Amino acid sequence: MHTIAAAALLATAHALQLPWKPAAVAAPPSAPAAIAADDHRRAVIGGHNWLTHAPPSYFARDKLTVKGPRANTDVGAPVDATRPLVKLGDVAVGSWSCSEGGWLSPAPRTSTEWFIMLEGEGSVDEEDGTRHRFAAGDVVVLPRGWSGRWDVQKDLHKVWAVHTHADDGRSTSPVIATPSQMSDGDIYKAGDTAVRVWTRQPGPVEVRDKATTESIYVLSGEMFVTNQDGSAVRCVAGDTVALPRGWTGRYDVASAVKAVSVVVGKETTSAAAPAPSHAGGKRRPIVGGNWKCNPATASSLDELCRNFDGVAPYLDKCDVYVCPSNLHVALVKDNFTPGIHVAPQNCNFKGCGAYTGEMSVDQIQDLGLGWVLIGHSERRGEFGLPTPAESNQLMATKLQYILDQGLNCVFCIGEPLSIRQKGIQAVLAECADQLTDIVPILRQLSDKSRVVIAYEPVWAIGTGEAATPEQAQETHKGIRDWIAANVDRATADAIRIQYGGSANAGNAPELSSFPDIDGFLVGGASLKPEIADIVKAIAEAKV
Ligand code: PEP
Repeated sequence: MHTIAAAALLATAHALQLPWKPAAVAAPPSAPAAIAADDHRRAVIGGHNWLTHAPPSYFARDKLTVKGPRANTDVGAPVDATRPLVKLGDVAVGSWSCSEGGWLSPAPRTSTEWFIMLEGEGSVDEEDGTRHRFAAGDVVVLPRGWSGRWDVQKDLHKVWAVHTHADDGRSTSPVIATPSQMSDGDIYKAGDTAVRVWTRQPGPVEVRDKATTESIYVLSGEMFVTNQDGSAVRCVAGDTVALPRGWTGRYDVASAVKAVSVVVGKETTSAAAPAPSHAGGKRRPIVGGNWKCNPATASSLDELCRNFDGVAPYLDKCDVYVCPSNLHVALVKDNFTPGIHVAPQNCNFKGCGAYTGEMSVDQIQDLGLGWVLIGHSERRGEFGLPTPAESNQLMATKLQYILDQGLNCVFCIGEPLSIRQKGIQAVLAECADQLTDIVPILRQLSDKSRVVIAYEPVWAIGTGEAATPEQAQETHKGIRDWIAANVDRATADAIRIQYGGSANAGNAPELSSFPDIDGFLVGGASLKPEIADIVKAIAEAKV
């Protein structure tokens, strides 16, 4: 499952035992400092009151220290190596690797150990000979009091957390959870130790005086974890984060994070997951910038990214994403204020393989991205050239694939001028036509914030002639009513509908004042600093 990349940077910060502090935070508490592209890959060692973070490179096998011959070896000549990360009171976190072989562990354990297998295969036996096998991706708990034997069947590597505690009479039998068993909830709970899988949806979570010590291993998604002083780290799949009891700070989840964590201590009310974007009947506004096939030179990218710096003060109220051209996605993805999403302008519907010219969700996720845009009218046959138009059925197939893989999606619809000229009923019939194939998908979707509809009248795109606010509101409301009738009321109330088509800093405030307009998809103006004013307009209108 997780292959640990070798090398990369090692933390000078670790050697010095200093907390690393990124450059000063320019804007909101939700957006920690501009974290340089490579800075977030080094380990940040905090210790008491600070978060501790290790990217996979910190635990790369060539960074572990060989421990010397093992006692009690009776199979092969296993060589094991370890690297501690941090010790927080009675909880220690680190990594361990071991080559093939086996040995007896007769002395009962005085601590409970949890680990996630990164690579390899192994087993532990109980004293009565019961064997528990585990492989890459599995989570294993060896409770205090367990004794028996260890066998490494295939070179293994793991990240562990150990809790030293008094005998509290818990069962000594090992517990194993395979990846398919990792749905939200406790894998193990005894005394003050819980091993649990959790998912947090995008948004901020404030934590004050944390009641427990928690060691988190990120399975997927992206979040920023910020200390009280504003120092922050970006956490993605494969990263380990340890938070001490008493910690105060915040998580800013950029794309839904799934993690397995070891929680030690008496839990009061745990930090609540961020409210879904439609909590309390309110929809969180969302603005996207579509750079289309721009700019012509990579050297212009930095300037375009900097245009988005001005949105930072609004990121706690408004979601913001940017759709660079496909060639530029990887070049810019770490060059935005944290919290801004990068969303490719298209993806395929099959995954990796023999699909020349395509991009898969796996590749998008591997870059740490959580969103993708599909169905733009310029791909639905509006180029004015005889290129194959992407059909409604293809859009539905793509959407299902995107959601199944855990990505979120901006789904574009809209009518050409010839239909608008026939009046609103014709417009709504065209929108309904473009949405019909995704009705079952929307019905099944539990978190409605994962799909955003971008309503973009084709005649308004790039023409400088936006729909009037009344036209846009009427159409958005019509789309929402159609969803209520054909999907369900809850989806209609929760789903966000963006307006696109010559939106700019001048028309955004008035458009934002209409109740069914939840944001904008912006083309031309997203290449200019005025994008910040567009975000400001909707963020302030929807508070
Ligand atoms: C778009 O391309 O989605 C778009 C809305 O472009 P513009 O804002 O330039 O009309």
